[in-house]
Amino acid sequence: MDAISVIRAKRDGLELNGEQIDWIIDAYTHGKIAEEQMSALSMAIYLNGMTGLETSRWTNAMIASGRRMDFSSLRRPVVDKHSTGGVGDKITLPLAPVVAACGAAVPQLAGRGLGHTGGTLDKLEAIQGWRSQLTSAEMLTTLTDTGAVICAAGEDLAPADRKLYALRDVTGTVESIPLISASIMSKKIAEGAGSLVLDVKAGSGAFMKSVSQARALAASLVSIGRAHGMPTTALITDMSVPLGRTVGNALEVREAVEVLAGGGPADVVELTLSLARAMLEAAGIIDRDPADVLTNGAAMDVWRRMVTAQGGDPDAPLPRAREQLTVPTPATGVLTELDAYFVGVCSWRLGAGRSRKEDRVQMGAGVEIHAKPGDQVTAGQPLLTLHSDTPDTFSYALHALKGAVRVAPSSDDPAPAIRRPRQIVLEHVR
Ligand code: URA
Repeated sequence: MDAISVIRAKRDGLELNGEQIDWIIDAYTHGKIAEEQMSALSMAIYLNGMTGLETSRWTNAMIASGRRMDFSSLRRPVVDKHSTGGVGDKITLPLAPVVAACGAAVPQLAGRGLGHTGGTLDKLEAIQGWRSQLTSAEMLTTLTDTGAVICAAGEDLAPADRKLYALRDVTGTVESIPLISASIMSKKIAEGAGSLVLDVKAGSGAFMKSVSQARALAASLVSIGRAHGMPTTALITDMSVPLGRTVGNALEVREAVEVLAGGGPADVVELTLSLARAMLEAAGIIDRDPADVLTNGAAMDVWRRMVTAQGGDPDAPLPRAREQLTVPTPATGVLTELDAYFVGVCSWRLGAGRSRKEDRVQMGAGVEIHAKPGDQVTAGQPLLTLHSDTPDTFSYALHALKGAVRVAPSSDDPAPAIRRPRQIVLEHVR
């Protein structure tokens, strides 16, 4: 077997066979083929796609590149969730404790932000003392004691994907449905949960800009899960507007804690409960209502124990950025647009995100949102508050907001649809 013949086959639109796929993933993981050869193959896959059979085998080969985790010693059903990523997406923080408080075990191997989307580990690191790196034994103990754990994936979980994802990131080959599917599902299957619920986001702030692309990705992910014996369903959810009223690490933790205390923005509560219901159904827990554990304090109790088990102080004040700048509403009328992508870029430029893996994020940086689409607004009233430790970033961050906000004058009386509460869950793919 050699890399050039595999690249040529995919370049010419042929289906790769199982042996070719196993060989190329193994050779790449062990440094036996050059980065430029894997770049060429990734681009050929990006352009010519892969069949369901190829994608499933590619997923298998990436799982086999590392270790599989085993939670069979737990006495609860183990259910996992994965989001394809968005702006203001802090849902994992309230969701894991909610589902654990209802009786399932929720191991969440989370990642860091890159580009305009935030990462769950960066958010949780805003909590004083909280540790993302746990040994397998610590992970299992936290799961057994509290029902939930959110931590970094070990180096040995699908290492082929770790290497390939970094290469795709710099070769313009991330946005390929078969490659995204194999990347996500190899990690999720290696993680060893009994079932999986996916939050596939659609809209300007997501990888998949349209609902039809999100639907295709969801169908691909669900079919790989099924082919590997892991019951998998997906919700397609809106990511055209940031989720909730905060974007940025400590700001989002504050909002997640508000949800756990029984409050918080309606869209964050709705998505948390929709995903929780899907996870409980997947775990076979049919007699619990996740809304109850938000109001009776049981989810907050799991959160506090989970944070404490990972070295964090749930009562410590969250970091606050040194400087704030208020952005006024440009006109009077109904806010019709607050674009998720532009707000995400704004928050990133304020210091909440990183451009390179090795950059440090500012814990207090980000954007607070005072009005959402559908709200009546008045010219000059605060629309956003920008937070940063580095006020010289304000003008660069403001620049990102050009075209992000639209206000329809009240006299135009915009279509009644805009006044209806925004629909967060668009479809359920089973
Ligand atoms: N998230 C992943 O884990 N992999 C991808 O390829 C894209 C998003």
